[in-house]
Amino acid sequence: MCGIVAYIGPREAYPVILKGLKRLEYRGYDSSGVALLNGDLRVYKKKGKVNELEESLIGKDVHAHAGIGHTRWATHGEPSDRNAHPHQSANGKLAMIHNGIIENYAQLKTELQKKGYVFKSDTDTEVLLNFIEDIHENNQCGLEEAVRIALKRVVGAYVIVLLDAANPDTIIAARKGSPLVIGVGKGEHFLASDASPIIEYTKEVVYVNDYELAILKADELVLKNLGNEKITPFVQKLDLELAAIEKGGYDHFMLKEIFEQPDTIFDCLRGRLDVSNATITMAGVQNNIEHLKLANRIIMVACGTSWHAGLIAEYVFEELCRIPVEVEYASEFRYRNPVIHKGDVIFAISQSGETADTIVAIERAKEQGAFIFGVVNVVGSSIARISNAGAYTHAGPEIGVASTKAFTAQLVVLTMIALKIAKEKNTISEERYVHLLNELHEAPEKVKEILLLNDKIQELAEKYKDAKDALYLGRGYNFPVALEGALKLKEISYIHAEGYAAAEMKHGPIALVDENLPVVFVATKDSYHEKIISNIQEIKARKGKVVAVISEGDETIPQLSEDIMVVPQADELVAPMLSVIPLQLFAYHIGVAKGYDVDKPRNLAKSVTVE
Ligand code: GLU
Repeated sequence: MCGIVAYIGPREAYPVILKGLKRLEYRGYDSSGVALLNGDLRVYKKKGKVNELEESLIGKDVHAHAGIGHTRWATHGEPSDRNAHPHQSANGKLAMIHNGIIENYAQLKTELQKKGYVFKSDTDTEVLLNFIEDIHENNQCGLEEAVRIALKRVVGAYVIVLLDAANPDTIIAARKGSPLVIGVGKGEHFLASDASPIIEYTKEVVYVNDYELAILKADELVLKNLGNEKITPFVQKLDLELAAIEKGGYDHFMLKEIFEQPDTIFDCLRGRLDVSNATITMAGVQNNIEHLKLANRIIMVACGTSWHAGLIAEYVFEELCRIPVEVEYASEFRYRNPVIHKGDVIFAISQSGETADTIVAIERAKEQGAFIFGVVNVVGSSIARISNAGAYTHAGPEIGVASTKAFTAQLVVLTMIALKIAKEKNTISEERYVHLLNELHEAPEKVKEILLLNDKIQELAEKYKDAKDALYLGRGYNFPVALEGALKLKEISYIHAEGYAAAEMKHGPIALVDENLPVVFVATKDSYHEKIISNIQEIKARKGKVVAVISEGDETIPQLSEDIMVVPQADELVAPMLSVIPLQLFAYHIGVAKGYDVDKPRNLAKSVTVE
């Protein structure tokens, strides 16, 4: 997930690229850089936001008519000047930007190191670039051919864009699994991750497809497949406003991010889950397996939505790994002098990796000898650096303040970690292990199905938007989902909502129930199903309005409910990453119906960097 821009034509390339990078900064912002070709190849890059790159280039020679630019969202290697893109090949002649992950980079890197290549960065990108250079030099083929040969060996997702000092009138780009748009101007071409950097210059665009290669000159565009056959470019006319494009056509980042979840869950599984060989590859777990499997106790430390992910993980880890788990609010944990032993493993869960309370909590625990495992979204963030080991959630930048896709990615990562430890510890049967791997594998498709409920949920939102309060109830794996559903509603719509364990509701909140109170049940089919039906009856007997998230094929709950949202059947352990999605949409549409700015709810901040 990063932003890329390139230009070739009569204009000055640098201002076009710089402006484009600023528009794409929502895609990543830990470092940025440009490569400009004007006789010689000049590469400038800088850690931090695009503004910092701009300032560092004041007074530098940025004159060029061909150039490429990148704003990075690190996956391999911390955010730093040297890991920033563009990268330069070992002989200095090629410069490349990349969006995505090269999954087999380690193997390619070893091969290149044996040939004497020395790497200047920790990125997968530099490996691919030198792999291309090596083929280009040793096979004595043109760069285009070298790119084709290299990409046939690459496993992963990419958009790459190359500048070649020996061919200053040509830019080469290719894509698989990451977005790439070409802007077709008069005697000029633009390239970008989305149309926002292009639209003010031309509305004519070509969307490049997977396994296609684009060879761009100022006045010529050639598209080919990896078999070197020409493809006729399909030029479309864009009819979109700039602001809409940055949000991918969605009204809000929150909705865009909810809809990204089939992809983010897939990205999170990519390169890790291998269903055919029944394996999970996670270096952070594998390299520290002794610590993890011998843990006396696991403590999940987090805040807000991440804390809910920790609660679900408690159920998952206890069931699969048979290790006792505690879940702590970081802000409480850090101040109450908790008892920590050497054999304890602390999981620090945070989207931003900068949550102030969580940082201090794990620093304390580390001092007392605990092993810290970070589950964070932002690569190179403080928590990632402090942790002894970790696994990234790879959900891409989350802009909407109310967390959605980062939460489901946390659930995916935590479930994979638990499965891996359980396998090592022999606390899971082969049959259940394989079944759960398949369930994870099927999750992205099931999420797609759930998103089809969007229109129906929008109608429900109209019906319930004037509620003063709401109660969210669930049991077992779905209990924390009820908490998360209530939190989303509070954050976005400012309606008071409480999440509760469905059976516990009899010990207090049931006093709130009357004919005006919507009671949202998270009641997908699981081992608690009969029990939650009784809880629904209890609410109905007191005239509460039951809105239920249920599984396909459930014939009982619809008869007891005012409204239902139906999700595909899934194993109870995987169900939370699905059953939460209708609740995200419900909160979103109620917030919008009430006229609030759901991307920036009042009083909240995206990452809470103060205690
Ligand atoms: N994997 C590359 C890196 O870590 C590209 C990341 C991106 O898409 O920004 O540098």
